[in-house]
Amino acid sequence: MRTPPPAGNPFSPQKSGQDKKRPGGFFDAPWQLLLQVLVALLLVWLWQESVQRATVTTIPYSTFLDKLAKKEILECTITPDEILGKMAAPPPTKKEGEGKPEPKAALFRTVRVEDPNLVAELQSAHASYASVRPSLLSQLIFSWILPIGIFFLIWVGLSRWMTRGAGYSLLNVGKSRARLVAEEGTGVSFEDVAGCQEAKIELQEVVDFLKSPGRYRALGAKIPKGVLLIGPPGTGKTLLARAVAGEAHVAFFSLSGSEFVEMFVGVGASRVRDLFVQAKGRAPCIIFIDELDAIGRQRGVRIAMGHDEQEQTLNQLLVEMDGFDPNEGIILLAATNRPDILDRALLRPGRFDRHVVVDLPDAQGRESILAVHSRGKPLAPATNLQEIAQATSGFSGADLANLMNEAALLAARRQAHQIEQADLLEALEKVIAGPERRSLQLAEEEKHRVAYHEVGHALIAAVTPGADPVRKISIIPRGRAALGYTLQLPPAQQYLLTRTQLLAKIRCAMGGRAAEEVVFREVSTGAENDLEVATTLARQMVCLYGMSESVGLAHLVSSRPGMAEVPGVNGHVEYSGETARLVDQEVQRLLETAYREAKTILQDERKTLEEVTAELLKKETLGAEQFFALLPDSIKKPLATPP
Ligand code: ADP
Ligand code: MG
Ligand code: ZN
Repeated sequence: MRTPPPAGNPFSPQKSGQDKKRPGGFFDAPWQLLLQVLVALLLVWLWQESVQRATVTTIPYSTFLDKLAKKEILECTITPDEILGKMAAPPPTKKEGEGKPEPKAALFRTVRVEDPNLVAELQSAHASYASVRPSLLSQLIFSWILPIGIFFLIWVGLSRWMTRGAGYSLLNVGKSRARLVAEEGTGVSFEDVAGCQEAKIELQEVVDFLKSPGRYRALGAKIPKGVLLIGPPGTGKTLLARAVAGEAHVAFFSLSGSEFVEMFVGVGASRVRDLFVQAKGRAPCIIFIDELDAIGRQRGVRIAMGHDEQEQTLNQLLVEMDGFDPNEGIILLAATNRPDILDRALLRPGRFDRHVVVDLPDAQGRESILAVHSRGKPLAPATNLQEIAQATSGFSGADLANLMNEAALLAARRQAHQIEQADLLEALEKVIAGPERRSLQLAEEEKHRVAYHEVGHALIAAVTPGADPVRKISIIPRGRAALGYTLQLPPAQQYLLTRTQLLAKIRCAMGGRAAEEVVFREVSTGAENDLEVATTLARQMVCLYGMSESVGLAHLVSSRPGMAEVPGVNGHVEYSGETARLVDQEVQRLLETAYREAKTILQDERKTLEEVTAELLKKETLGAEQFFALLPDSIKKPLATPP
């Protein structure tokens, strides 16, 4: 009776029964039998070896010669490497007891030394001796078949172990791993995708074609083979592709670019080939390649490892795209957020020639995305999604989905049955600044410093024309780094920033440090992030937007965006050292001017600074109304009305 071996052991003989389901599997009956026999042989051989070794005494060659001289060697067999045989008296070891049945003889073994006199000595000792040369068969078995067999077993075992659960094995590595979604499509419709109306209109054509290709064929119209969705992360590109398949009720093959690029050279290309063969069998259908940039990078500019593989994969994709007739009913969709690094051959007519931009949503789009994601979440009647949409400029669809979910979690935490506007606002802050950390206890002096710092930001924002209005000041630590923060949000959707607005931003960022210096006559490390923001803005003004008189209108980039990883290949500096020095001077000048202005303002408004800070220390957070109520009339004027 054999007890079933533990499941998952690749060597277990019992597995054959279970693995029958796997058609053509490697562990089917004939192989199974061979393996069993091999393993059994191996075990028997090992056992014999170990038994032999236990009863045989190994003696040095010198001892052997001694015994030979004393005529104690009874018989021996000489092999190329060693001498085995029987000797008369066992050596004085514990073996004595065991040797009882044959007290006069013990087995011995000695490693052979090259000794031309051996035969003569054996002859004179009258020992019976014979020489054995290992048979060709056993030599073959031991030096070839056995090692190869062992390595084969290890390889099979490893490959099964490595790929267990991955659904494929190294033995059929080229098979496409495209996930085939059922005929019904993906279950996602255009209604689930809010905003991005233009993208939906463009894609509607693709849907129509997939639904009734005959109409297009009759008119001789050629539908684009490839549609490339371009947009920042989280804007719903993947979602849109799924929605197209869902709307058209066609099969949806989805792969991500990185899935193509595998460790084994040539595998990526065979994946592409397989994929197209499979897709042709399921037409009409959609092949969706997510993160196309993973395979579609420009050829010949990379110096990283593995780019040969990537090039082959890309070439194969290009070949396949040329090879099918668009009216076969296969449409390629692809998504990327890095169109700038894609190989140009991919974008030429006949390939991904239709480009659909999926941009960050505008205020209206954000409101409808919030509405989509509030489905199934009971909102209180008083909630105002429009206000949230106004306050979230720059958010992507994924950010908004996350915000909605955070709000639901917050409502659940207070055991409420409905999501209130306060939950949404709290979630907004959490998403922007990280969760509150009330447990972090600041020393009294540090707390004062943080309060002055934040009020510094807020006051500068209040007096500076063009600055984003202050929505909230808080000295409750949030997230990983912020000890306090001032929330400023733009009044509505903004696509352009004027020079005044940029300067205002820099000045506001300087407000915190300026306040610290005005009040404490000493600065702290708390302004690092502010300085980073200000420096980046100033550098952009000088280098990208042509907003500095002395540097002029030139667009100065040291490298193309996204190419900075490979200095010396693409990242050549396109301006002279003198210009670089001038740029640095200009950036410095902008920052210092902003800082000086901020300091002057705070010195002039020292009284207001003290009052607001005292209030902030008392309440820990100040909303917009509370903050503006504390300001003297002279400051309030230039301000837009708070929300
Ligand atoms: P991308 O592929 O562009 O990086 P995804 O399509 O994966 O972004 O979007 C991530 C998630 O964000 C989606 O699952 C969805 O919940 C949400 N989302 C993004 N954009 C939208 C949108 N326009 N409408 C509704 N939900 C969206
Ligand atoms: Mg995606
Ligand atoms: Zn600050």
